[in-house]
Amino acid sequence: MSKFAVKNMKCNICGRVNEVTYLAMGSQQGGPDLDFRPAEVRRSAMPLWVRKCDYCRNVFSTSEEMPEYEEKYIDSKEYVNCGNIAGLPEQAKRFVKIGLIYKHCKEYKKAGDHFLYAAWSCDDAGLDAIAIVCRKRALKYYNEVNGSKLAKRELPDFMLRILDILRRSGMYDEVISFAENCEFEDSKDQAICEFQVQKAKERDKKCYRVEDVLSDASKK
Ligand SMILES: [Zn+2]
Repeated sequence: MSKFAVKNMKCNICGRVNEVTYLAMGSQQGGPDLDFRPAEVRRSAMPLWVRKCDYCRNVFSTSEEMPEYEEKYIDSKEYVNCGNIAGLPEQAKRFVKIGLIYKHCKEYKKAGDHFLYAAWSCDDAGLDAIAIVCRKRALKYYNEVNGSKLAKRELPDFMLRILDILRRSGMYDEVISFAENCEFEDSKDQAICEFQVQKAKERDKKCYRVEDVLSDASKK
């Protein structure tokens, strides 16, 4: 069962109050995908993660505080044209815009995360080619992330996410070479890495869940 609630949030750019609906409570049904896309009910609540201001061009996160940026950025060509990615569905546009804001503020991990969320919206809309464009853009920003600055638990998750983005973008050789430089202390993480390499060798870019890896491993 899920429960939605409403709160008032001030737009960080124009300062006007927006009435924002958010997922206040929802029981998790199953585990995440290999890129940590959450299962239901958080999955279907994705449109609520980011909000377009009712009064200006700004988009903001409904769950975390936005960084500081100058108002004129939301009038920039880059922002208005969604980083020149054509054919994005409405929800993906919002994720791309917030990703661009994070990129503009040099918060590259969050920038990449939001481009991946945009890819998820494209996946749901069956727009595979645009999803790949968004995934590649996520990789570009993840490339700027200084891994040594990530928290200890964040780093393996970050590497696993990159492996999945590479494979789902059809960059199979890159999956294999990236995996060669990955070391995982946790045996579950290691199993996921090996699964990604296996699927890359099979030229398989389908979406898999963590459960698929574990059930695969138990068959061996
Ligand atoms: Zn606003």
